[in-house]
Amino acid sequence: MTQVHLHGLSKVFHGKDEVRAVSNLDLEIAPGKITALLGPSGCGKTTTLKMIAGLLRPTEGDVTFDGETVLSIPAEKRGAAMVFQNYLLFPYMSVGENVGFGLRMQHVDRKTITKKVSEMLELVRLPDFENRRPKQLSGGQQQRVALARALIIEPKLLLLDEPISNLDAHLRDEMRELIHSIQRQLGITTIFVTHDQEEAVVLADKIALMFDGELHQFDLPSTFYECPASARIARFFGGVNFLEGTKQGEQVETPLGVLHINHQPIADGPVILTVRPENLRLGESGENAIQARIRSHVYVGTHTRFKVEAGARQFEVVAEAASVERFRDGDQLPLKLPREKIWLVPPEG
Ligand code: ADP
Ligand code: MG
Repeated sequence: MTQVHLHGLSKVFHGKDEVRAVSNLDLEIAPGKITALLGPSGCGKTTTLKMIAGLLRPTEGDVTFDGETVLSIPAEKRGAAMVFQNYLLFPYMSVGENVGFGLRMQHVDRKTITKKVSEMLELVRLPDFENRRPKQLSGGQQQRVALARALIIEPKLLLLDEPISNLDAHLRDEMRELIHSIQRQLGITTIFVTHDQEEAVVLADKIALMFDGELHQFDLPSTFYECPASARIARFFGGVNFLEGTKQGEQVETPLGVLHINHQPIADGPVILTVRPENLRLGESGENAIQARIRSHVYVGTHTRFKVEAGARQFEVVAEAASVERFRDGDQLPLKLPREKIWLVPPEG
């Protein structure tokens, strides 16, 4: 199991304009675990992955595997296998030839290759597909062939670049589950790139969130929901309720009154208060209940989503599905911000 360490890693592309794609990235990737590199399109995820794989040379910084620099080791000798978003299968080869490709390059004997190919196709749940051509397969099946082709060389590191973004929703679930079970089975250190926070949360043991080439937070998936480091991160994870205020001890003075909070690591002074939509309590009074009015609602089957106003502020509340029968648009009612669900982030700008 390989531990990957990025030390002050940067990449600047010199073209017509200079692009700083990755900036001073420090990251310690746990051996045998799945780490997600998450962030919006263009934030530097693929560039980072390619520097780890050896497909791009960093402008500054270092990449180490188990404490040893790999910068002078060419891609094919690093022992990292990369799977790309658009599969990149060899169209003129059969599925079996595609999967066996890495072993043929290593001049492994035919019998061993045949055996390993069927093992790998078994692993990705495509037995008996050896003789098909890539174009006779669905997108999801092609991606599984790409995965089998990557794994057959027994890489010490598996690098996946948005491997399921191109698939339909139900195939994505299946592929997530497959990647998860293969990773657990093989215990291979895996770095997984995605722009989809839900995908990162479902698959990753730990998430590295990047914006604009920089690392913004590196934590367990649940921490991004409960304790995002900034309002921007909270928004990226579906946070929509923000209220500016001034913290003093266990109170925050806001335009909607004084709210009580539990102890928070942030210093006293100006802050932004956040509460996730699923943590607001519609129609509940008591501590931190503010006067609100329902503007609109959508019934989604599994829950009901309300737009609520309080003073000049808007909040979104996710409530149980049946609350669609309890509340009407226009209702005036209390809205509770439970103190243990309030999280404070620094003011923006
Ligand atoms: P992501 O994978 O997160 O979408 P990338 O790593 O592909 O982002 O790109 C990060 C930034 O670097 C983007 O602004 C992109 O346009 C730029 N970039 C990527 N590759 C090159 C290149 N070969 N030459 C110039 N700019 C590039
Ligand atoms: Mg990319």
